[in-house]
Amino acid sequence: MPTHYRACNLCEAICGLAIEHENGKISSIRGDEQDPLSRGHICPKAVALQDVYEDPDRLKYPVRRTINGWQRISWEEAYDEVVANLRKVQEKHGPDAVGAYFGNPNVHNLGSMLFSGAFTKALGTRNRFSATSADQLPHHVAALLMFGHGLLLPVPDVSRTHFMLIIGANPLVSNGSLMTAPGFARHMKGIQERGGRVVVIDPRRTETAEKADVHYFIRPGRDALLLLALIHAVFEEGLVGLHHLEDIIAGLDAVQKIAAGFSPETVAPLVGIKAEDIRRLAREFADAPSAVCYGRMGASTQAFGGLCQWLINVLNIITGNLDREGGAMFTQPAFDHVGFTGSRGKTGIFGRRRSRVSGLPEYSGEFPVAALAEEILTPGEGQIRAMVTVAGNPVLSTPNGQQLDKALAGLEFMAAIDIYINETTRHANIILPPTTGLETEHYDIIFHILAVHNTAKYSPPLFEKEPEQRHDWQIFQALTERLSGQPGNGMQPQSMLDFALRAGPYQLSLKQLAEAPHGIDLGPLQPCLPERLFTPGKKIPLAPEIFVQDITRLTKEIENWKTATESHFPLLLTGRRQLRSNNSWMHNSYRLVKGRERCTLLIHPEDARKAGIEDGQEVKVASSVGAIQIIVEISSEMMPGVVSIPHGWGHRRDGVQMGVAQSHPGASINDLTENSRIDELTGNAAFSGVPVWVGPPGNNL
Ligand code: SF4
Repeated sequence: MPTHYRACNLCEAICGLAIEHENGKISSIRGDEQDPLSRGHICPKAVALQDVYEDPDRLKYPVRRTINGWQRISWEEAYDEVVANLRKVQEKHGPDAVGAYFGNPNVHNLGSMLFSGAFTKALGTRNRFSATSADQLPHHVAALLMFGHGLLLPVPDVSRTHFMLIIGANPLVSNGSLMTAPGFARHMKGIQERGGRVVVIDPRRTETAEKADVHYFIRPGRDALLLLALIHAVFEEGLVGLHHLEDIIAGLDAVQKIAAGFSPETVAPLVGIKAEDIRRLAREFADAPSAVCYGRMGASTQAFGGLCQWLINVLNIITGNLDREGGAMFTQPAFDHVGFTGSRGKTGIFGRRRSRVSGLPEYSGEFPVAALAEEILTPGEGQIRAMVTVAGNPVLSTPNGQQLDKALAGLEFMAAIDIYINETTRHANIILPPTTGLETEHYDIIFHILAVHNTAKYSPPLFEKEPEQRHDWQIFQALTERLSGQPGNGMQPQSMLDFALRAGPYQLSLKQLAEAPHGIDLGPLQPCLPERLFTPGKKIPLAPEIFVQDITRLTKEIENWKTATESHFPLLLTGRRQLRSNNSWMHNSYRLVKGRERCTLLIHPEDARKAGIEDGQEVKVASSVGAIQIIVEISSEMMPGVVSIPHGWGHRRDGVQMGVAQSHPGASINDLTENSRIDELTGNAAFSGVPVWVGPPGNNL
């Protein structure tokens, strides 16, 4: 039976797959043992590649919404109608009257990565949004201001480190996020087997915390305080060791001055971790032969996400753990997007413009998605009247989804590039569905930049697309040509990829990659500073002004925490990552959603007792913006006072055409999250720590 080798592009881990198939049918999907990055690792989600390919609900041809339902139309009709309607709105109300939203799968698709830029430029609007600001914007802002490029993100060197401090992340389930680490369990075991330690800080005893050497609960949103206390202890106990970084660091004194106000003894009662434990953690981190601090969703999607990502970099730097084996390192990918754009001065721009209604900062041509609904709903010049969404479901994945749902329903026109009629695209007038997964070729431009080992892998398509289908890049190209009135340059993804590989640091070619179906091993991460920096004088500013100023906001918030009185919403809500789910779009795979209910509220036994609820019962959860009903799971894995709901669920809505998802709907956490809760510094949505009330369904607050 023929075997097709490819990289899974469903999540960030880019696992190597070996897919056995015959006569257009897949008989098995397993991990590719010879893949130099994933070495045979695979997770249960990989089968979704087959399920999505075979899904009868998946759109393959353009459709138009009519009063009699969805009607199939030709590609030419669809392109012309989309462009005519967008232009009509722009001619009447100005270029910014069209908004665009790009969902997470865009960065997992070669065609979209290469061709969507020209499309957004041709749209000519400043009202651009993406999933970045619902996820990881603080990482980019910290990287831009400290290393000079928003994508120059330090990656934990997990295969060599001796101490890993994990804050608000669950890599045993995610296999790394902004840290492509397929088979993270193997890396974690390796740390422990070489005598190292893994410490997890999280308000839930996650799957990673369960296997770690030590786990500390922390109240959501207070990680920046813990980081400041760790940095304080490093200075106070004489543990600073810049080593090889000595000549390229500026601003050490400023950081010491800031951290001086946050002793472990001051911070301990606020974060719920004893001062002696904080001091011991600081000592162990600084004294380890190598160490790395890594913080993700819990430390990013919160009110002080920017401060957290800055302070994580600071902790790694002042202990000499940046750019050294076993520390936080930078990759050297074969398609060197960072080097390519950086050498042309395209490193990222922060705060050049502000959003019209709430004044949130722009990052590299995008406004924070928390502002999207208000930009549609608030009248005035620049109001969004038409939208294009691309591979995204912001109704489920962005804060206050109900508000956005209503906003989209009131648009003059909406087009979606998507394979499903989901909670967001049901509002579209026209849907243009691209090919997906197994019908497409793939080279991962972004996640090789974030991988724990340098590799390169090209995946050809497994199945031919049907003649009437279109790839994403063909859709972007057709729309771009019509919007700009200019013919395309004739380039296709393969020629662009080949060009970038040849111009890259290893001077590979697409032919070489095609001849290596398991991928090419380019070696472990290597020290590369200061050459890789894009900062003035190739120095790392340890205390960029905007972070220093944001400490004042943190200090004010501490006073609020200290003086808080009893609230109508006594519990704090956090999200959680699940092995069989990735955002909102894999819930139409029966193999992934079958079995016990997965969209549940986790709550500590004492909080459940106070709320008068029992395990397995359907309960009501309410916040300042909405309420949902959800099955409860009582578990001491939750910190008292904190509850958790996974995100991406909530499929029971009129007009959705995803049969499996609708029969396993769950409830949307984002019907509870608030669009006004953001990290004011970066504009990222602050999902973590939303105040909620929980009680029996018949009860009210
Ligand atoms: S971990 Fe991610 S990349 Fe790996 S098989 Fe699962 S979904 Fe695919």
